[in-house]
Amino acid sequence: MVPGYHRPAVVKVNLGAIRRNLENEMKHLDPGQKMFAVVKANAYGHGAVEVAKVAEKVGAAGFCVAILDEALQLRRADIVKPILVLGVVSPEYAPVAAVNNISLTVPNLEWLKDAEKYLVKENLQLKIHLGIDSGMGRIGFNEDDEFIAANKFLENNEHFFVEGMFAHFASADSADETYFEHQRDKFNHMKSLLTVKPKWIHVDNTAASIFHSGIKSDLVRFGIGIYGLNPSSNPASPDLDSQIKLEPALSFESELTHVKTIHQGDGVGYGSTFVADEDTIIGTVPVGYADGFIRKFQGFKVKVGDDYCPIVGRICMDQFMVKLPKKMSVGTKVVIISNNPDDPNNIKAAADYVDTIHYEVACLLNDRLPRVYY
Ligand code: PLP
Repeated sequence: MVPGYHRPAVVKVNLGAIRRNLENEMKHLDPGQKMFAVVKANAYGHGAVEVAKVAEKVGAAGFCVAILDEALQLRRADIVKPILVLGVVSPEYAPVAAVNNISLTVPNLEWLKDAEKYLVKENLQLKIHLGIDSGMGRIGFNEDDEFIAANKFLENNEHFFVEGMFAHFASADSADETYFEHQRDKFNHMKSLLTVKPKWIHVDNTAASIFHSGIKSDLVRFGIGIYGLNPSSNPASPDLDSQIKLEPALSFESELTHVKTIHQGDGVGYGSTFVADEDTIIGTVPVGYADGFIRKFQGFKVKVGDDYCPIVGRICMDQFMVKLPKKMSVGTKVVIISNNPDDPNNIKAAADYVDTIHYEVACLLNDRLPRVYY
């Protein structure tokens, strides 16, 4: 995707807010606990390298990404602290990770055996974190026998350095703690089977760190909190503000590129889902679903100048239209998503509108939208 530097549509990222969110989490950590900044998926759409540089300055002990290429991107940007790839990397790339000092997640014993073959060939040692499936149902060891066998396989194995063991909670943001406790207990059980000694044993994501201070994790994998967003969309979850102050960092802005009056009976957009019943002023914004601003946003109100105006007609691939209350000039600022949580077009409201979570809204905003940092 070519970034659109010659059109007025940008994602603005407040690096000061990112820094303050990270600093607040650093203060929130237990004594001796470390933080790994989760910057996968281009730092949830905010820009991985820029966010990682801020996190490095604030004192993050390392980084988490989802895929090997994201880790390599950080290494190319001279990030030298530990990086853990949370997803499964094909064993054939174990040497690439080892050479670049990137730690990989072990999903099962078979993976270890396969990766060893590649490491032996090049006489390399790989840093690994043992993934535990304590109830997320995604990746990692969930059977005692296999985990015990993996520990045996690793004892005195010079091709692996066991840097960590971790699991991921499915519902750390939920008011009902039953499943959280089940996962915690299962993880503790798997921990009791260890015969190798990982440096870092970790389970906390943002929600677990903020809402479950009793969990003793050597490090917190702090993700959504970096970006100033509440890890919970659940209205019944504990109060966030009493635990930590977070400031949303992302806003999404554009401008009107065209303004006109249409007349009774004139339609707007594909399928003419909006038809004017009187003279109506329509503004066009050069953003569409090809930017990650999906068609379901039809009807959502964005701020044009000082007015909140509904998106009318279907969102096109590269443009959408708004109904304006008055004539406005081309170039009038349009705030599609505001970083002010009190504004009606804040990212949580946007996510609610399209029936999803703010993680998804931010991640969908793709590379065609240049990131502007301030
Ligand atoms: N750890 C793992 C394994 C994850 O998959 C994620 C995010 O999806 C995180 C940590 C960070 O979670 P959050 O953004 O909710 O803090």
